[in-house]
Amino acid sequence: MWKITLSDLVLTAEDKAAVQDALDSNWLTMGSRTTAFEQAFAEALDPADPPHALAVGSGTAALHMAMLALGVGPGDEVIVPGLTFVATANAVLYTGATVVVADVTSADDPTLSIADVERKLTDRTAAVIAVHYGGHPGHILELRRLCDQAGVHVVEDAAHSPVADSPPDGSGHIHPLGAIGTVGCMSFFSNKNMTTAEGGMVVTRDPEVAEQLRLLRSHGMTALTLERHRGHAHGYDCVALGWNYRIDEIRAALGLSQLSRLDANNRRRTELFARYHRLLADVPGLELPFHSRLDEDLTQADQGRRLSPHIMVTVLPQGCDRAAVQGALKDAGIQTSVHYPPLHRFTLHADHPRVRAEGLEVIENLSPRLLTLPLYATMTDEDVATVADALRAALAQSFERG
Ligand SMILES: *Cc1c(COP(=O)(O)O)cnc(C)c1O
Repeated sequence: MWKITLSDLVLTAEDKAAVQDALDSNWLTMGSRTTAFEQAFAEALDPADPPHALAVGSGTAALHMAMLALGVGPGDEVIVPGLTFVATANAVLYTGATVVVADVTSADDPTLSIADVERKLTDRTAAVIAVHYGGHPGHILELRRLCDQAGVHVVEDAAHSPVADSPPDGSGHIHPLGAIGTVGCMSFFSNKNMTTAEGGMVVTRDPEVAEQLRLLRSHGMTALTLERHRGHAHGYDCVALGWNYRIDEIRAALGLSQLSRLDANNRRRTELFARYHRLLADVPGLELPFHSRLDEDLTQADQGRRLSPHIMVTVLPQGCDRAAVQGALKDAGIQTSVHYPPLHRFTLHADHPRVRAEGLEVIENLSPRLLTLPLYATMTDEDVATVADALRAALAQSFERG
């Protein structure tokens, strides 16, 4: 039905062999493959100083564990951007804490507005969750500085940005995304830049937080089934209220195999993202998030900064009929999506007593105009040209009708 889908899942012969090996090993729950995946991920993220990394069942589990490990609970407030997947906010709601929805900066920079975070910090704020929307880190270093001053934790929702770096700080150093805040959360859901089907990773540089995360992942138990199987432990104690947020060997094996191609795939995504921007920059009224910093990003990438574009977001001209544009692209065989419907308008969140959503002017303006175009590593340059031409034609048509 689609000529060009929104995203694409590539499973290689190596991926399948790795999964087959895990199945043949006769040990399916967390074991040596999980440990190898965690080590490889931590070393990929920061070869010079690998953080603690724990593989978990999903990105949502990672976010929930981050909140719990930081002691977030009833009476606390956590600031989240209003332009994100529902899991970011729900992780806060699970704990009994209050979600304070913050605005994004602009159409050019739809990441958490530092000015709005400053306005919304109170003495009840326990954490701010930064989302690297579309794979772009926004002002994460500035946010970290602000939150350090306020004594507030930064949690990175890095679901869109596995193994990438911040822009250089004041002394020219880049920092791996996910290891800048107290905890970083990755997702390996099947449409993300790398996949384990379902899966995620929590990352931290704090050994005490890492220990908490380890307990939270598996019932607060002091010994794992594997350790008992190997005769390393006989009994166990339960020292915290934990969950079953474990990954398994099948998915860890797939993750390890996928990780080996992530860097090449992220580079290809970067080329395709840049190509879209070159082809669409002059379309009247169309805005392209992160356009004004693209040249700088690409220059920094040449100097070793890793980029990780995840989705190709556009902001349609003011007053444009998005459904008509999506329909025209669908007729051309091109699948599109919207990232994201505004969080504070969902039935659950709109009337929730623990969701506070005020002063979200930028999101109110942007959200009806957002349109996501196909982006995946196996797209061809011609595919990008086909999508760009189809969008240009659809917009011209909608202006004629307009
Ligand atoms: C995918 C995603 C999540 C949730 O990850 P799952 O692995 O699907 O649970 C959280 N935040 C953002 C921004 C995401 O895109």
